[in-house]
Amino acid sequence: MEYRKNPKNGDDISLLGMGMMRLPVADGKQDQIEEKTARAIVDACYQGGVNYYDSAYYYHDEASEPFTGKALANYPRGSYRLATKLPLWDMKSLDEAKAAFETQLKRLNTDYVDYYLIHAMDKDVFATFRQLELTGWLDSLRRSGAIKQMGFSFHAKPELLTEILEHYNWDFVQIQLNYIDWEFQNAREQYEIIEKKGLPCIVMEPVRGGRLADLGPGGNAVLQRQAPGKSIASWAMRYVAALPNVLTVLSGMSSAEQVQDNLATFSNVTPLSAQETAVLEQAAELFKAAATIPCTQCRYCMPCPAGVDIPGLMNLLNKVAFDGSTFGLRQRYPHFPEENNASHCTQCGHCESVCPQHIPIMATLEKLVADTAPAAD
Ligand code: SF4
Ligand code: SF4
Repeated sequence: MEYRKNPKNGDDISLLGMGMMRLPVADGKQDQIEEKTARAIVDACYQGGVNYYDSAYYYHDEASEPFTGKALANYPRGSYRLATKLPLWDMKSLDEAKAAFETQLKRLNTDYVDYYLIHAMDKDVFATFRQLELTGWLDSLRRSGAIKQMGFSFHAKPELLTEILEHYNWDFVQIQLNYIDWEFQNAREQYEIIEKKGLPCIVMEPVRGGRLADLGPGGNAVLQRQAPGKSIASWAMRYVAALPNVLTVLSGMSSAEQVQDNLATFSNVTPLSAQETAVLEQAAELFKAAATIPCTQCRYCMPCPAGVDIPGLMNLLNKVAFDGSTFGLRQRYPHFPEENNASHCTQCGHCESVCPQHIPIMATLEKLVADTAPAAD
């Protein structure tokens, strides 16, 4: 395992970090984490040298933090770093934020958080951050050692990033970075702003919620020809790991196979050569041309008031995106639970207002209904 030193406090952090938001669950229920399998994943990560574990208040419908606390209880507290996030969008007062932090400490079975983040900072969350005047409280938590490093996760425009960085004395920033978003979602500009500010960058969504683990037949073939036996996901990991200001790359691992693949990649990280970069660009073009939806399965749009399973439907659309016709969609859509299907959308707009990928969800659902309607006689 490769380790990188945090320039802010000297921490040696494993370049591969464990994201505690895509753990295996029973019957598709997010709050029903399959503890035995999930614990084996955490244990394999720890044994493989991973020392950074990233949770959040709302991951797995609030089940992630308690599970994380239990799963890491077997290991000396000082041997790993715990990260979690404050859902400020849900808070109306400083007291609510304080109560949430106390709840998080209890759930995580700890009296301090190594890396604490304001979750999903955007224009509205930043407005709340200023309105509730959190800085004095955060400063006191930092002084007392209850928070070791303070940062935020970010999905918005680079201009806002600069403004937020100037507002407070942050220690780190977590951004969505992968070879598609490097240009597509301004990740390059964000990375450069953070680097210029002298702060370490933590990477989330290096495989874009699993999308870059399978580029479709065309893209996969290009990469497999170049490196037979190497996973498609390993290309995405090597791409981000090569950036020198990246402190750790978070991967939401869901299976033992993913852990083994990632550990193999990070045990000996080799940057992509110029020739490999050209091959990856070629594969990425084929992937983009397949017109997939940039959904990362983050579930920020959930719950939908009408019961629509938005991430599930985006996933379904992406699975059939490589078909080049609506044939696969027409075959699979009838098997989707009726009560969660696209026809229930009331176009209230909630999902689009919170989707960090700015997906036109309502139009996508409308098209899905039209594409799967019974053909007229
Ligand atoms: S627009 Fe439709 S899918 Fe989105 S939140 Fe409203 S009802 Fe749900
Ligand atoms: S539609 Fe948007 S908010 Fe919902 S899961 Fe996908 S990326 Fe996240």
